[in-house]
Amino acid sequence: MTHAHETAIEAVDLVKRYGDVTALSGLSFSVRAGTVFGLLGPNGAGKSTTIKILTTLSRPTSGSATVAGVDVLARPNDVRRAIGVVTQKTGADPQLTGRENLLLVGHVHGMRGRAAKQRVDELLALFDLTEAANRLVKQYSGGMQRKLDVAMGLVHRPTVLFLDEPTTGLDPQARSEMWSEIARLARSERLTILLTTHYLEEADHLADQLVIVDRGRLVAEGSPEELKSELRGDAVVIDLSPEASVDAARTAIEGLAGTREITVSGRTIRTRVDHGASAVPAALAALERSSVAVAAVTVARPALDDVYLRYTGRTFASADASKDQLEVAR
Ligand code: ADP
Repeated sequence: MTHAHETAIEAVDLVKRYGDVTALSGLSFSVRAGTVFGLLGPNGAGKSTTIKILTTLSRPTSGSATVAGVDVLARPNDVRRAIGVVTQKTGADPQLTGRENLLLVGHVHGMRGRAAKQRVDELLALFDLTEAANRLVKQYSGGMQRKLDVAMGLVHRPTVLFLDEPTTGLDPQARSEMWSEIARLARSERLTILLTTHYLEEADHLADQLVIVDRGRLVAEGSPEELKSELRGDAVVIDLSPEASVDAARTAIEGLAGTREITVSGRTIRTRVDHGASAVPAALAALERSSVAVAAVTVARPALDDVYLRYTGRTFASADASKDQLEVAR
């Protein structure tokens, strides 16, 4: 039995090379039992590689890790018994019902008869799938399938659950339902959950602690609140009109007192200032003096996206799409 103060996952100096490609270059972090931990980063950051190592599907080039107190390299079979893994691809058979899928997973784990049936009923209820239990999975909505996937990962009562992008592809309503389910799971099943996500909002919403990974390295860690509070001041985002000169706009903003961390992405200029409300009129006046037409200006309190920008030099969306060119001012 794990207790709240115990460490559920410990990754120590993980390095993984694929030929010339270094997927992980010395990643370390630890996850307290009974918490939700977010692994955040753009495509290619090393998230899947980390999950593969922690779930015993891949061996690190060097470094070590324990999951549920068990060494992943020395005792992979014991690790597998202690964990649930929900990948992006569904593991459910569309030609079977939800209940049949869950029972099948139970059988794979050696559960039989009444014990298996009880656990399956419990999970169906937990995920609000009791009514749909006897319908074929191919008739389920995307959100229901995803919930069934997570339920399938929990049949054998793991203490650590790995969720790889649990809400990718779901519509906003199904996503927010999934968030409630995950939050409830962490409380009711006393699980430790490690999730990877593309959605900053998701990490903000769910994770007790999170790490931002970029190019195989940890670039920031803390609670979402801690990470956000590291950023002083407000973010000012200026969208330029199509005809405006981006260079002239940038020069104008750089010339203002009190602007920091100026970045340009396409026709959008971002900067950080102490007081957004007083900085905006000054910025608009400076842009007008430089004959730069502005389409829109917004002021925002720091969000996780700003944290990401600060540590990786890219906005989350652009890093993720791996196409937007963005320069960071020094
Ligand atoms: P993420 O899950 O954050 O998108 P990955 O862990 O999948 O990142 O990948 C990290 C890096 O390792 C990428 O550059 C990727 O191309 C590379 N990589 C991942 N798996 C392999 C593999 N089997 N062979 C070669 N390179 C790989």
